[in-house]
Amino acid sequence: MAIYDNMQAMEEEIIKCMKCGNCQAVCPVYKEVSTESGVARGKIQLAAKILRGEAKYTPELYKKFDLCLQCQACSANCPCGVKAHKIIMAARAELTRQDMLPFAKKAAFNVLRRPALFDFGLRLGSTFQSLAFKKNDTGMSPRFPIGLEMRRVIPALADKPLRSELPEVNAVANAKRKVAFFTGCVTNYIYTNVGKAVVEVLNHNGVDVIIPKEQHCCGAPATINGDIETGKAMAKSHVDIFSKLDVEAIITVCGTCGGTFEQKYLELLADDPVYAEKAKVVASKIRDIAEYLVDELQVDFSQLGNVPITFTYHEPCHIGRGMGLTRQPLEMLTKLPGITYKPMSQPNRCCGGAGSFSLTNYDVSYGILQKKIDDIQSTNANVVVTGCGSCRMQLEDGLAQGKLPHKVMHVIEVVQQAYRNAK
Ligand code: SF4
Ligand code: SF4
Ligand code: SF4
Repeated sequence: MAIYDNMQAMEEEIIKCMKCGNCQAVCPVYKEVSTESGVARGKIQLAAKILRGEAKYTPELYKKFDLCLQCQACSANCPCGVKAHKIIMAARAELTRQDMLPFAKKAAFNVLRRPALFDFGLRLGSTFQSLAFKKNDTGMSPRFPIGLEMRRVIPALADKPLRSELPEVNAVANAKRKVAFFTGCVTNYIYTNVGKAVVEVLNHNGVDVIIPKEQHCCGAPATINGDIETGKAMAKSHVDIFSKLDVEAIITVCGTCGGTFEQKYLELLADDPVYAEKAKVVASKIRDIAEYLVDELQVDFSQLGNVPITFTYHEPCHIGRGMGLTRQPLEMLTKLPGITYKPMSQPNRCCGGAGSFSLTNYDVSYGILQKKIDDIQSTNANVVVTGCGSCRMQLEDGLAQGKLPHKVMHVIEVVQQAYRNAK
């Protein structure tokens, strides 16, 4: 049985919890709301009630399980090894089966499931965004209430999506290796420079980069919110697209995308007779860009050009705790000539973004973000580097709200600078 198909599959995980409350110390949400249902322990007890048939499926119950970033801090720090974030996901899936998914999310995931419609909507959005948003120095803010916090600063959609700008095959003379690139939505529609930096740096290292045109959203927003059917459809589609390719790796630039391919697709398709094995092969090829450059290509970063910045690093939850990549991004960045690293006190504390969480729970999200911004400020760095587009959006909002001058860059953009400065 695939784990999100039935709450029963979570029973063993649920009874492992000894209610010690250690998760309170690490849960960013609990630090804001201070309620038992805000922390993993409380949610696990609610999940136990679902299993016993004692909990009523109500919108209020959905809201309680919605109040979680899926940052995995609870699971990483639980003395009993309880995978609390998975129990929370399973409860969301059960609530969605009981028709408790809010209408707006249901409608959004219906669009996500139709890649052509999703793409059309975002291209249209790019053309008409100035009607709904006013531009300022740091990004854009809503002109009128459109379901987004009025003070929120968000980046503009790119004029042209990355996958329309770059060819499907980005080859170099005498290539030694060939990889595929899963761009993800944020890189495809917003931070297109990140995708261009990936291709430039890989080509520079003699790697051909294939960007399959038919790829689309990885489905994480739907899966994480409990819409497992949409998650499965997206998983099958990507397993088909990427297993056709003769490549040694599939590069990602976002921990949520990477973790979705590496772990969620396996969980979603575990009992599928056709897709379970194919999904494992695809998952085994997933490499975050930092992981690929450091571990596979073994680039000598100390020989690149000067990058005269003082930076601090925000470790995205889904790259650090999710994909287990705590070493590679910093190993790469700190070796670059001319660069200075000023660590935050808690680089791996969640920024509070978590995709739709920051839309539906802006106040809680903003409280979490504020702690991250304070930590950034205490470092005296002038650049914040991270490896996830949605963290970047969140950090840019926090820095803009605080009228702070810091620039936010993706790790691969810093490495691109080093290659350019070496010329
Ligand atoms: S989830 Fe883990 S840390 Fe939290 S109460 Fe249960 S056993 Fe303790
Ligand atoms: S995943 Fe993060 S936000 Fe959710 S309960 Fe665990 S620590 Fe709290
Ligand atoms: S937004 Fe970033 S820091 Fe927050 S949960 Fe997602 S990956 Fe983690």
